[in-house]
Parts: sequence; C-alpha cells; structure tokens
Amino acid sequence: MRPLIAGNWKMHGSLSEAAALAGAIKAGLAEAGAAELLVCPPFPYVQPVIAALAGAAIAVGGQDCHAAAKGAHTGDVAAAMLRDIGATHVILGHSERRANHGETDAVVRAKAEAALAAGLTPVVCVGESEAQRLAGEAEPVVTGQLDGSLPEGFAAAGGVVAYEPVWAIGTGRTPTEAEIAAIHQAIRGKLLARFGAAGGGLRILYGGSMKPSNAAAILALANVDGGLVGGASLVAADFLAIAAGA
Ligand code: 13P
Repeated sequence: MRPLIAGNWKMHGSLSEAAALAGAIKAGLAEAGAAELLVCPPFPYVQPVIAALAGAAIAVGGQDCHAAAKGAHTGDVAAAMLRDIGATHVILGHSERRANHGETDAVVRAKAEAALAAGLTPVVCVGESEAQRLAGEAEPVVTGQLDGSLPEGFAAAGGVVAYEPVWAIGTGRTPTEAEIAAIHQAIRGKLLARFGAAGGGLRILYGGSMKPSNAAAILALANVDGGLVGGASLVAADFLAIAAGA
C-alpha cells in the first residue's frame, strides 16, 4: 500500500511561514520518494497553502470539523467548507482535541460522518495515555476508541486511522518497535473484523515524535502505512526526509 505521510502543523506559524513551508515542501517534492503527502495547516492558512501548493501532488486537510453540516456554531468550521476551498482530508479526534475540547468517541464519530458526507477523507486519531499503557490497557483502549469513533461508511471511503500514543506526542519518546507493531496489528484486526476485507486496505499511520532518525524503522513495520507528523513536519527538509524513508 502506498504510504501516506501527513503533517499536522497544529497551531503553529504565520501566514508567511505557512506559505514558505508549503513552498519548500513543493520545491523538494522529488526528495519525498513514492509516499503520498498531506499537510494540515491551521484553518486560516488552509486556503493559502492550497494556493501555494497548486500543481503539486500534495493534499491539504483541516485539523478538525464540526459534526453539523451548517448552523449556529460560532467558531466552528463545517466539513463542506473545507471541501469547498479544496481540502481533501480532515484530522479528527486528535488527542489534543479529545483532551482540550472534551471530544468523546461519539463526537469524533459524528464528525467523521460529517466529513464523509462532505467528501473529505477522515484521519481518525486514537491512542492511549501513559497511565493506560503502564496499566497494560493500551490495546483495549485503542480498539475501544476505534469501536466508538469510526462510522459505518469509513472503510468504503478509504478512511485513515492514526495511532498516536498520547505520551509520545511532542515528548521525543516513542514506543518500541515491537510495541508499535503490536498495536498496529491489533488495529488491523479490528478493522478487518469491523469492515471485512476492505479493512485490510485502510492505512494505519503512526504518530508521536516521528522524525527523520526513527521514521524509516517505524515505517518498515508491518501494518504501519505512513505517519502523522507534528513537530518535524514544520521543517520541510525533515518532513521530506521522513517521507523518503517510507
Ligand atoms: P509530534 O510529532 O510533535 O510528536 O506530534 C505528533 C502529533 O500529534 C501529530 O498529530
């Protein structure tokens, strides 16, 4: 399966920095190898980044959307609005949104349904906390999040799952390769059980302190079909180097 390397820019940068980063990724695209690339800028920069990437085979997505198609939801953005300006993907259920905005599995599932209805590919994030891992609960936590967060049409639309252990995000710490492989295998098993053969073709990304020095080894693991990269995606050379290792 063709790997997907996705950059989650989170709440970083300015307009000029976003355009410069997009331009540098576009200019270095030949270094990215065969991987498919996706960048997810903050909302105000989604359209400028789409403009900066015009003509390049790099997808652009949002970092969230509302579950409703439209309405009185001050400060929120509808999936159809992202699609309207040319975005193709949306990250949903990131642990920072689950933690900072109280997003439950049911909320994430409703947002994923809205994304599918608007024609966006959802990138649904799951992952255990450090306490949950230490308690030996990583696998049931993650498979439980999948049960609650993935809508029925997810596989038919080619949805993407991202496994991001909360304690590995922005910390420089990562699970061992064996731990990553075990969780990704459990996720694959859950996708197959839920969606049948279609579940075998869905991408499962790893995220959490992925960088050029560890990416190739992680991306070589079975059932690791790409990466969701935070900090390292803000440096074009690092993002491209990660993609080259895929
Ligand atoms: P870092 O790569 O900075 O650890 O962030 C991972 C992440 O949260 C991507 O969504």
